Amino acid sequence: MSIKNNLLNIKTTLPEQITLVAVSKTKPVSDLMEAYDAGQRIFGENKIQEMAEKWEQMPKDIQWQMIGHVQTNKVKFMAPFVSLIHGVDSLKLLQEINKQALKNDRIIDCLLQIHIAEEETKFGLDDEELSTLLSSTEIQELKNIRIVGLMGMATFTDNKDQVKKEFTHLKSVFDTIRSKDALQSFSILSMGMSGDYQLAIECGSTMVRIGSSIFGGR
Ligand SMILES: *Cc1c(COP(=O)(O)O)cnc(C)c1O
Repeated sequence: MSIKNNLLNIKTTLPEQITLVAVSKTKPVSDLMEAYDAGQRIFGENKIQEMAEKWEQMPKDIQWQMIGHVQTNKVKFMAPFVSLIHGVDSLKLLQEINKQALKNDRIIDCLLQIHIAEEETKFGLDDEELSTLLSSTEIQELKNIRIVGLMGMATFTDNKDQVKKEFTHLKSVFDTIRSKDALQSFSILSMGMSGDYQLAIECGSTMVRIGSSIFGGR
């Protein structure tokens, strides 16, 4: 199967309102261009330097999204162009993104990463950290970032019931924040990857991050 066919097959199965992020980490620009030529304009990368190199080489109508863990000292390298940062899990990181966005005269959209998996190793906020962060006065002062939703990764397991439970929990956190309406333009729920995106969509995802099913294994 070609990248183009993989992409088009996935697109035909996705409901219209679901945003597809093509996760192109580790893949060469030639592979990304194949997806681009098939119409894809949103790409996800997990290393800032790699994303910046691809941004320089590729057409400028691409939306580049950072899906990996973000090191504070590297935010400046993506601040000029990044369209969405998925993995935000601290006030310190938000403050740095705000600072770099201001320098570039931009407002940068961010998703807060929530810890929903069982594994200890995955990054993200727990429920209490999330509410502390959202109610902090510091966050109100950040005029060059916009928190537009949540992101989460389920446990890496074949147990569908567990994954479903984790996605459902994330959706309920998302709905709770949305119902309070404290944040304007809070509308993105980024959950689901190659192995679990159909389940994620059933559970209320609005954005799926798909890599290996489009570009092949890494
Ligand atoms: C790599 C990655 C993906 C894509 O994973 P696939 O299983 O290849 O679809 C999605 N989200 C994050 C955060 C990733 O790091």
